[in-house]
Amino acid sequence: MTNIAEIKAFSKPLIANLHKLGISNVQALLLHLPLRYLDETHITAVRDLRTGESAQVEGEIVHAEVTYKPRKALIARLEDASGQLTLRFLHFYPSQIAALKVGTKLRVYGEVRSGFFGYEMVHPTCKPVGASTTVAETLTPVYPTVAGLTQASLRKAIRLVLLPNALTETLPASVYHPLPSFAASLQALHNPSPDADLHALENKTTAHWRRLAFDELLAQQLSMRKHYARRRSVNAPQFTRSKRLVSALLKSLPFALTSAQQKVAIEIERDLTQPHPMQRLLQGDVGSGKTIVACMAALQSIENGWQVALMAPTEILAEQHYRKMLGWLTPLNIQIAWLTGSQSKKDRATALEFITNGQAQLVVGTHALFQEAVQFKNLGLAIIDEQHRFGVQQRLALRQKGQPEPHQLMMTATPIPRTLSMSYYADLDVSVIDELPPGRTPIVTKLVSDTRRDEILQRVREACVQGNQAYWVCPLIEESEALQLQTANDTYALMQTEFPELQVGLVHGRMKPADKQAVMAAFSSGDLQLLVATTVIEVGVDVPNASLMVIEHAERMGLSQLHQLRGRVGRGAAKSTCILLYQNKLSETARARLKVIYESNDGFVIAQADLHLRGPGEFLGVRQSGVPMLKIADLERDIDLLEAAKTMADKLLTEYPVEVEKHLDRWMGSAGELVKV
Ligand code: ADP
Ligand code: MG
Repeated sequence: MTNIAEIKAFSKPLIANLHKLGISNVQALLLHLPLRYLDETHITAVRDLRTGESAQVEGEIVHAEVTYKPRKALIARLEDASGQLTLRFLHFYPSQIAALKVGTKLRVYGEVRSGFFGYEMVHPTCKPVGASTTVAETLTPVYPTVAGLTQASLRKAIRLVLLPNALTETLPASVYHPLPSFAASLQALHNPSPDADLHALENKTTAHWRRLAFDELLAQQLSMRKHYARRRSVNAPQFTRSKRLVSALLKSLPFALTSAQQKVAIEIERDLTQPHPMQRLLQGDVGSGKTIVACMAALQSIENGWQVALMAPTEILAEQHYRKMLGWLTPLNIQIAWLTGSQSKKDRATALEFITNGQAQLVVGTHALFQEAVQFKNLGLAIIDEQHRFGVQQRLALRQKGQPEPHQLMMTATPIPRTLSMSYYADLDVSVIDELPPGRTPIVTKLVSDTRRDEILQRVREACVQGNQAYWVCPLIEESEALQLQTANDTYALMQTEFPELQVGLVHGRMKPADKQAVMAAFSSGDLQLLVATTVIEVGVDVPNASLMVIEHAERMGLSQLHQLRGRVGRGAAKSTCILLYQNKLSETARARLKVIYESNDGFVIAQADLHLRGPGEFLGVRQSGVPMLKIADLERDIDLLEAAKTMADKLLTEYPVEVEKHLDRWMGSAGELVKV
């Protein structure tokens, strides 16, 4: 692939700017596609303008002034043979005032609006008209760019490399049929003909866009398949089924597994008997009972003589798992080590020694588990709870702690919508717990305006006086951690004054781990009745007696986050309520979001809506670091292409191995190698 630095016609600053856009080779430059298009192919008479449409108008400036009311603005009037158009600039430079002198001939382009004095354009682009000014022959593409790189130079650079020998097909025609060729598609998108359908172009629904979306989706499928195949080709410790420990554990439990838990436990057990590393995602709504399933897998590994690592994203959750494992496994004589970043040096050294010499059969901890100093004797299985909180690289690091490669079990309460499991998650096997343990009463969700705070405080008092427990979740303040902390402290002080008769606790991310644990333990044991918390309690916390949750400024939180938080209640037999307090004057999207959470208790529905409202980039969160995101294809709009790409990926891999490499090379470049999920 030609590096752009080798192109003689490209200046050093141009190359530097292209690098800023992430473009280093010709293929990437060719695939840098327009965001939108301008129709500068004809000039519209003022009389023929239509509100809401973009148009190009040519005329003479007949009036120009800077006004100060209602706010500072530069206003000019442009006249052609058919009428006058107002041009309005709210931010402007002295040079622009000069360029709009009365008598100047101008060509302007912008969106037409109806103003007080007839048609107007706000911040149109303006070009002086000379004797030789011609009209564009094709629609003008507008590209994503960076400061210092003009549209004109970007267009010129792309035109220079848009040559037949760079536009060769990577795919056999039978694979992309009936979509147009790659060359025709790129030509049409970089230089669309004047009669192209501007709407379809901007919505990326033309055949040419669809061809590129298909190619992109196909590349993603191919790279996922390759990773899957790689995994099948490497060795992992092969376990036999557990004969002793798992049944001993199940006998000791006060409950029986649900049939959904049994089903996924069998899927995992079978994977562990394979000689290849398992990479399975265990998905189950909050409270569905994933931990016990993970524990069964751990016992299978331990019984086979291999160590297990159980990693959680927060210290609170890791601690909770540790306690639970102690409770379940100590009677079975299993040795458990505990590892976090906040341990004393001495405790840490002891734990590390215990892990290295193999005495620790199970290690529970936080991110600390994949640090360099942690050496396992023989890691056979890595279990990662709340997997979406970890980046690809972090999980990779844990995988590298075993030789041969350990099995991996990832757990998540956020369901993966179908479009994502077909695309970004296509390399993983998925098990779903689609049933909650019996005896849970559904959580009642209420949307309440912040103006009714007093009533809510009263409810909290009543719940606690009756012997239940409550969470009060402080607003999320993403902009400033200091402010977030202050809010938490203020709320805590407020609650203490409000409820002198109750024991109130506070937990937030900035507390010392030991203090955090003490507070959680006090809440767990019922010594505290009301827990003021930040979103640190979002994942995993399990206190069955808590039956009321109040979430302040619920409109600021993501849907999956709200669902997770809400899942902290409704864990016991008591009827539970979650109150979402919102600030009045909700925006349209905030209203739509809260409506979803109000109407549904189904994590799957919520995840689907979350994906729809936020897009895959936000939804995938940390997982996206290291995973190339789709730039052209849209999983919702292009679902048919995704299906086609899935089918065609199989065909290509069996029949056209050379084309597979060519295609991956074009679309993934070296990034393709990064997706070792
Ligand atoms: P999550 O899937 O959210 O991680 P947990 O594993 O924390 O859920 O389980 C939630 C609670 O349900 C725990 O207290 C756990 O002991 C309990 N539990 C798990 N499985 C069952 C079951 N089959 N019947 C009754 N309770 C169960
Ligand atoms: Mg859990």
